[in-house]
Amino acid sequence: MPVGGKKQLPVVMEKEQVSVRSLISDRESELPGMWNRMFEQRVLRDYTTRELDRVAALPGGESLEWCYGCGKCVPVCPVDLVGEYGPRKIHRRTQTGTNLLESADLWLCTTCGNCLRVCPKEVDMMQIMPAARAAAVGQSTVPGELQDVFEKTFRYGNCLGQNARRRHAWTRGAGVPVRVLADEPGPVDVLFYVEDYWSYHPRGQQAAQAMARVLSALGIDWAILGAEEKTLGDSQRTAGEKGLFEALMEDVVATLDKYEFSRIVTPDPHGFNALVKEYPKHGHRYDVLHYTQLLAPLVDQLELTVPVERTVTFHDPCYLGRHHGEYDAPRRLIEAIPGIRLTEMSRCRENGYCCGGGGGGMWLDGFTASHTTERLSERRVREAAATGADVLAVCCPYEVSRFEDAAKSTGNEQLQVKDIIELIDEAMGHGADAEPA
Ligand code: SF4
Ligand code: SF4
Repeated sequence: MPVGGKKQLPVVMEKEQVSVRSLISDRESELPGMWNRMFEQRVLRDYTTRELDRVAALPGGESLEWCYGCGKCVPVCPVDLVGEYGPRKIHRRTQTGTNLLESADLWLCTTCGNCLRVCPKEVDMMQIMPAARAAAVGQSTVPGELQDVFEKTFRYGNCLGQNARRRHAWTRGAGVPVRVLADEPGPVDVLFYVEDYWSYHPRGQQAAQAMARVLSALGIDWAILGAEEKTLGDSQRTAGEKGLFEALMEDVVATLDKYEFSRIVTPDPHGFNALVKEYPKHGHRYDVLHYTQLLAPLVDQLELTVPVERTVTFHDPCYLGRHHGEYDAPRRLIEAIPGIRLTEMSRCRENGYCCGGGGGGMWLDGFTASHTTERLSERRVREAAATGADVLAVCCPYEVSRFEDAAKSTGNEQLQVKDIIELIDEAMGHGADAEPA
């Protein structure tokens, strides 16, 4: 009988008298005790699968049950490199009685997708984790720092708890006119969906300003939603707040329905993921591009006249690379900049190492610090510095602040962190002279 993951001692058995008869001499002899033990029933461990069954019963949690323990996922899991993690280990722990909903394991997965890439059984942590977290949301087990972000997002429509009226304050320092659709309605080609960190974070605002200058220099017809924009909330969804994501989606769709545009362009791979993969599940379909996908085919029209004499390494965002297969557009832009030498980290493209920001990890640094030996962003910054690069180039709004902090905490201040759009802006002669709003 299952005994709840506790060790069960073997039942004491009478020593079996085992003898064998020789076919040649017909003599009978007894096997020594060492061999006799092979005939005893071995009961090493017994357990209940109740906890595994509970996760597998959740819509989205089914595939945890499919694991057959091959172990391919563990060496590619970024969290295992700084702790004890990976789908195989989580499967085994739940199988032997750990309640995932009350375990720290529930919050450490960044939904980076590297395990799914190698798993022969398609155990899908991108479905399992949001499902299990959704079941835990509402319980006291949600880490306080994540709960705080859920509440800010619910109240203000952005994860930073900032006033909606300040969402387009960054436009003041852009140096080019920025059209806000509420003030200047009418059809537009590109709706630039800025998202939270480029709207509010000082380093993100600099990137947004660079983007505005580049779009204008290209003569693209573009506009923003300004104060009407709300976060697309994909990381809140993967962190377990499905209800919040759906409420945000209703608001976003109602706003988008007011305007006429051809395509949405966003700098945020998480927002991009929401629009490309999640919104269509609810019947909302748009033509969506990450900003690198908009600019890469236009690279010959960018007037990149100022050499940027630096060695650059590039960090693939999980939600642009592995989740959507886009590895080339960012590299095409970097390589087009005169003076830049691109050097790759050993973990790149399909096997890129996660910055730790996905799946709600962006808001769980305090929590993960107490369950891992090192932040993923610190690990990644060490890898970037080891290439000898001067610049770590990124194209996800989560990453500039994460990697700048990590560069300081690991003593790699010589490594600059720049969004690709900032490098393009510099090569177009606009310089890094813009001020945060
Ligand atoms: S790769 Fe898949 S099947 Fe193999 S141990 Fe990991 S989760 Fe299980
Ligand atoms: S999605 Fe990424 S962080 Fe989560 S278990 Fe898989 S490899 Fe590890």
